[in-house]
Amino acid sequence: MIVKFYGIRGSHPTPNANFLKYGGNTPCVVIRDKGKVIIFDGGTGIIEVGKELIKEDRSDIYIFISHSHYDHIQGLPFFKPFFRRSKRKIKIYGPSFLEKSYDKVLEEFLSSPFIPFSLNELRGKDSIEIITLEEKEKIFLFENGVMKTIHSKNHPLHGVHLFSYLSSSKKITYMTDIKVDDGIMKELVAFARDSDILIFDSFFLKKESGEEDESKRFGHSSFEDALKVKELSGSKMLYFFHYNPDYSDEILDGVKKEFEKNNAFLSFEGLEVNLDD
Ligand SMILES: [Zn+2]
Ligand SMILES: [Zn+2]
Repeated sequence: MIVKFYGIRGSHPTPNANFLKYGGNTPCVVIRDKGKVIIFDGGTGIIEVGKELIKEDRSDIYIFISHSHYDHIQGLPFFKPFFRRSKRKIKIYGPSFLEKSYDKVLEEFLSSPFIPFSLNELRGKDSIEIITLEEKEKIFLFENGVMKTIHSKNHPLHGVHLFSYLSSSKKITYMTDIKVDDGIMKELVAFARDSDILIFDSFFLKKESGEEDESKRFGHSSFEDALKVKELSGSKMLYFFHYNPDYSDEILDGVKKEFEKNNAFLSFEGLEVNLDD
């Protein structure tokens, strides 16, 4: 199984010279496991994923969207596999919004005047199937694995879905855009329990997270919060993720050395982690 990072930046892309070592694309992480391609989030990182999948002629694609903030969906209109007829439908799992199914949410996002095509035109190609994630815990079964999702309200205004993928022998947990606090720590630790890889929101350096109100307002965690979840959950490796768009390579290089001894690493665009099954 391979986990690869295609977009690690939070809030908005940072295609500037001082940010390219870690990367400027917004969130997208891909798991390749026995023929399945599982994609977390559709930030601008998913554009490159799409190009690769077209070349490989892959059709067993599952996209899980944590929430509908722009940085997690802005690459979707440019995901090339949507535009071809495929042997199997691409499945997109995304959150409901108020009373709206994810179908409706996407329909509004993929429409005029924002883009020159509509979701229904894509669906006309019979290429996609949309599944709505509700707030209650849910488990999706695959041929050789299981995806579990829970919802947390600790991200403004409508919360976020957290995902855990279990293959036959490995566990990958993806938790982004979430503010750790004492009220939810137990739940997060239980969800991440014994992960081989934990990918966790690391938007703030503790010293820059400022007043408690500030970090709450944005609904994000610090590098230290992420490490705490890793340690308490007994997870083997932590990859920091969803960096503040103001953090240049120089700032992130400074953080790197501080955490490596704890098996906690900075994710960067293009990073591949191989896990033997
Ligand atoms: Zn985000
Ligand atoms: Zn968000």
